[in-house]
Amino acid sequence: MNKKQMKKILTDMAHTRVSCTAQEKEAAEYLAARCEELGVKARLESFGVETGDVSFASLKADGSDVPCTGYKLCGSGSVKAQFLYLPHLDKASLAEAKGKIVMVDGYLGLFPYKDIVDAGALGFITYDGNVRYADRDIDSRAVRADLAEGRKILGVNVNAKDAAKLVKAAPKEIEIRVEQKEYTGESHNVVAELPGESDEWIVLTAHYDSTPLSPGVWDNMSGCVGILGMLEAAAKASRDKKLRYGVRLVFCGSEERGLLGSKAYVAAHEAELGKVALNINLDMIGSAMGKFIAVVSAEKQLVDFIKYYSVLEGWSIEARSGVYSSDSTPFADKGVPAVSFARIATANQATIHGRYDTMEVMSMPQLEKDIDFLSAFALRFIGAPACPVGREMPDDVKKQLDEYLGRKRKDQ
Ligand SMILES: [Zn+2]
Repeated sequence: MNKKQMKKILTDMAHTRVSCTAQEKEAAEYLAARCEELGVKARLESFGVETGDVSFASLKADGSDVPCTGYKLCGSGSVKAQFLYLPHLDKASLAEAKGKIVMVDGYLGLFPYKDIVDAGALGFITYDGNVRYADRDIDSRAVRADLAEGRKILGVNVNAKDAAKLVKAAPKEIEIRVEQKEYTGESHNVVAELPGESDEWIVLTAHYDSTPLSPGVWDNMSGCVGILGMLEAAAKASRDKKLRYGVRLVFCGSEERGLLGSKAYVAAHEAELGKVALNINLDMIGSAMGKFIAVVSAEKQLVDFIKYYSVLEGWSIEARSGVYSSDSTPFADKGVPAVSFARIATANQATIHGRYDTMEVMSMPQLEKDIDFLSAFALRFIGAPACPVGREMPDDVKKQLDEYLGRKRKDQ
């Protein structure tokens, strides 16, 4: 792919592609068609996702309306209670939450949701955006109720500007109303395969869905273009010499809903995962600003190898061991050595999960360089007589997997 072709894919797809929507499916079909153009067959694999269509949501503070969106999967109905801002969910704060509608900072992750439900909160408010941005966008979010064992409390999301107003106004009474239809929606992974000499695979992943307000150019159509470029490089190399490892692309759906596509993929293909030598995941590359990073969920030697290899290639990288919040994690959790690559810019330059994730944050020359580096790196493994990476996960990575996937709490 040249820069023009990369740019075309990014601009063609620069619109929302939310989990379980028609746009997400169109994007899946579009990416399958791009694989076929490279002479590689692709198929869609569907999986179910619990979701909700919110038809009504309101938030009243002492009788006046505050613009909001209702959380998917938080149930339907209305609740009235006292307002409480909880910037930290420590024991002292949670002791105050009983019978109240609580506002928390940031995302309401697995344990925070369980904690406020356990504490007896009757509803919750989150916020996003930035008090200084001109927009008044409000993302629409979904509850991840896994740990709360189906217990639901009503929740809404507001803009950061209104969140600050609410805290300053300290309203006596808050009322939340949400109406929605909850159901199992359909999302898709796109799987494309370039077989090798053996029946073993290097699996390249990148998610193609976006959040509700985001054109999702950097996060993560850039990664999709990345693995397409790597597939093209592998296909080209295999014309001269049959490659030992097959290359399998998995464009994951519903990543933004909690890595649901990659979780569905590893569940559906569990029996074959022993034949996956390595997972290389891309989540956000090719931004004009920012540093290139690698997060390795595998034995430490792979971190060292990436560091050495990068220096030999004259490539600037920050490589570390750990768990990345992306589709490499479900693979690592099933014992597949996995690495996520990304080019990470500061929030002053590029923000994700909102209207600002556009072509403007991208640099086509940088994207091309990132893909060249990644293709050369991947080809070292794809063409090697054996994959040197062992399959024993270090204990600290296992611990981080338990924490990230909500099986264990982080040490406080
Ligand atoms: Zn992403």
